Amino acid sequence: MGVPPQLTPAERASALALAKAARQERSQIKSQIKSGEISIAEVIALAGTREAIAKMRVLEMVESKSGVGKIRGKALLEKLGISSTRRIQGLGRYQRAALLKEFELPTSPQIGKLIVLSGPGGVGKSTIAKRLKEISDFVVIVSATTRPARFNESAGVDYHYLSNEEFDQAIKDDHFLEWAEFAGARYGTPRTPVDLALAQGENVLLEIEIEGAKQVKAKIPQALLVFLEPPSWEELVSRLEGRGTDSTERRAARLALAQEELAAASFFDKVLVNDEVEKVVSSLIEFASA
Ligand code: ADP
Ligand code: 5GP
Repeated sequence: MGVPPQLTPAERASALALAKAARQERSQIKSQIKSGEISIAEVIALAGTREAIAKMRVLEMVESKSGVGKIRGKALLEKLGISSTRRIQGLGRYQRAALLKEFELPTSPQIGKLIVLSGPGGVGKSTIAKRLKEISDFVVIVSATTRPARFNESAGVDYHYLSNEEFDQAIKDDHFLEWAEFAGARYGTPRTPVDLALAQGENVLLEIEIEGAKQVKAKIPQALLVFLEPPSWEELVSRLEGRGTDSTERRAARLALAQEELAAASFFDKVLVNDEVEKVVSSLIEFASA
């Protein structure tokens, strides 16, 4: 084993303060689990953004649940094939699903529909996703990306903006249901909010590019892949220009990509022409209830 790094007194004090804050955060979550204020599903979702919770042992989370306790908690993890030293961030996909099933599904047996919306850049995907969120109960998943935020976007609402290193780590930790490169940046769908929403019977929309959509179909064959087409090529060019968020160079690159993207429509389960936002949104709602 290597020699631990020598810390200055100030570094040591700051590390101790951070560790104390993390312990307090975990202890607060445990009492919320105990009182029923927060569900196991919600704790797992919170672990996606809060490091102190991600590092909590699964056993601590489970045994905090009222009526479980230490002995039953251990037996339960054994039954689900989860090591008693496993931390929430280290849970595999099937282990997460097994835990959710154990704690949540008996009260909400209905599984939601997953719709994946793709199409060339500038066709109107985010406009449609935003409107769908406003007028329906669809959960629209916020993706992660390594590209910088545009002037009209905010972190946590439009995207989770990650550095390249953070994105690499998220891939290693198996946080993504799918991820792909597009126009010089990486984009990925966080797995946990999708799993949770579907397990709770909610309909889910992913607004992603085509390679990512194919990955989702391979992993979740029940997903419905919807391709959004522009009414015409001229209209697509004019929408990209009208949006005013890309430099001339970037816009040219996006248009070159769009030509390739348009050829992918045949892979999709449904094709919708985005001539009117309200019409497209109604069709998506109809697909989910079909
Ligand atoms: P994408 O997310 O596919 O890249 P956006 O949602 O950013 O596309 O839309 C690109 C531009 O097209 C925006 O300025 C948006 O307001 C406009 N737009 C979207 N849908 C329509 C539509 N049905 N009719 C006219 N303009 C639209
Ligand atoms: P933009 O940079 O214009 O927001 O997005 C560029 C492209 O990335 C769009 O086609 C958008 O749908 C796609 N995209 C957004 N989020 C994701 C994601 O999580 N995964 C994948 N594969 N593509 C995404």
